[in-house]
Amino acid sequence: MQKQREAGMDEGSSGSSGIVANVRADNTVCPQCKAEATLFVSSTDLNRQTTNHTFNYFQCQACRLVFMDPIPEDMQPFYRGGYQKIPSNLSELRAIAATETYRMQPILKYKSGGKLLEIGPWMGIFSCNAKDAGFEVTAIDIDQECVDFLAEVVGVKALQSSNPANTLSQMDETFDVIALWHCLEHLPTPWLVIERAAARLKPGGVLLIAIPNIESSEFSLLKESWQHLDTPRHIYFYPAQSLVNICLANGLTTLELTTKDKLSRSLSRGAWHAWTSSKIPIRYIRGAIGLLLYKLVWQSRNSGSGLTALFSNTSGVPR
Ligand SMILES: [Zn+2]
Repeated sequence: MQKQREAGMDEGSSGSSGIVANVRADNTVCPQCKAEATLFVSSTDLNRQTTNHTFNYFQCQACRLVFMDPIPEDMQPFYRGGYQKIPSNLSELRAIAATETYRMQPILKYKSGGKLLEIGPWMGIFSCNAKDAGFEVTAIDIDQECVDFLAEVVGVKALQSSNPANTLSQMDETFDVIALWHCLEHLPTPWLVIERAAARLKPGGVLLIAIPNIESSEFSLLKESWQHLDTPRHIYFYPAQSLVNICLANGLTTLELTTKDKLSRSLSRGAWHAWTSSKIPIRYIRGAIGLLLYKLVWQSRNSGSGLTALFSNTSGVPR
């Protein structure tokens, strides 16, 4: 394992991606709290294979944040191949959004309307459902094509930004709901995003954060092969208690936190499917084995591949 790490590092330490030539270290400093961090896991881009470079993740010994170090200066080459294509029209988006209305459920327990900000909406599946549920939606995304689609087709207020922490600090409006669906792990300074999102919540406002669960059964079994490590696009992983702590430090209390919701279930299933696909050449066999492993692990353990948490700046109770 150690040898593989070093070999990978030598192989990938040069290149045109702005990756800093890399002397492997077992220790570094936590970017969030400046305490000592130790090597946690090393992996490469198994999902998209944009590079052979091996990336190291460390875990802070104080706040427990897991983070990549060093972070490539230019992440764009690793986003080649993109996620799913943006739909060509609103009805196509609505067809996709109809399968994800469940994501509104935790929010509707606390808020029935008002101003909602989504950070990292991508094509706007959740933003579309939030608008349809009666929220006045604002969205911040890095991708100009997504921003144009959100503004022109979905019909929400859309802002382009590669640094949502800065954008949040420049805004003067406040929101009833701020949602980050699997976005925080991509952002350069997630602790600043949480701090500034907390400052932009109305009294009693709700912050929803959904992230990959680094404490999941799948990560503990698959380690560097866990699909949702998504190296190097995922830079940061908050264990549940670390997320609760950073939110608490910003005046937010936990309304609910789960690793067993519908999204987590789907991510767990995806993780097993990806793993068997990489190991077993025969399609139907790998599908069956992947499904079996998912079911066995899901039933016998209690921590799926996704974590969804809701926080509030008051000790609010469901309406
Ligand atoms: Zn730390």
